Amino acid sequence: MKLSNFVKKGKNIVEFDVSGIEVKTLNTFRRTVIAGVPSMAIEKVVISANSSILNDELLIHRMGLVPLTTDLKTYTMPAECTCKGEGCGKCTCKLTLDVVGPKTVYSGDMKSLDENVKPVFATIPLVKLLADQKVTMEAEAVLGIGREHIKWQPGMASYEITDKDSFHVLVESFGPLPVEELITVAFEVVEAKIKQVKESM
Ligand SMILES: [Zn+2]
Repeated sequence: MKLSNFVKKGKNIVEFDVSGIEVKTLNTFRRTVIAGVPSMAIEKVVISANSSILNDELLIHRMGLVPLTTDLKTYTMPAECTCKGEGCGKCTCKLTLDVVGPKTVYSGDMKSLDENVKPVFATIPLVKLLADQKVTMEAEAVLGIGREHIKWQPGMASYEITDKDSFHVLVESFGPLPVEELITVAFEVVEAKIKQVKESM
């Protein structure tokens, strides 16, 4: 496999040409970018106060969809963690939200205990609070993959065939990971899968 013409377009989009690769391998890469590279998202929320117009469920849903910057070197998938998914510092990052109206609450109002895990965009509106309405909650973010839930989808990938075994590939990160890391990790996952298949034959 050979990568060439690596062009970065904007902060989170990369285009490159690749040759000497089978279409099914590239297709696995594409699906891995979308559904197989871990990223952080809010999974559990404990609400101690919510007098906003949104019910708890809707508010939790909105918070879950806020992309979070992801640190793959520090965090482990809960199921693979030594705590066996119960939640500990190695697999879980806590964020808090404590706001009083009148105010529009934005993703950036969530405070993270880890500066490497925080909302990618600070300006996603979550809810509008009237005077004296308040929201107080503690959330837990964990690693997951897009195959489990769309909130863990870190980006998009597509490709077109330019010649036999040659392709033009476009990858976009939604922000949890730098686009270069998204590509590298996706290729690592694909390689591990190919190795697994070969070993089982
Ligand atoms: Zn753990």
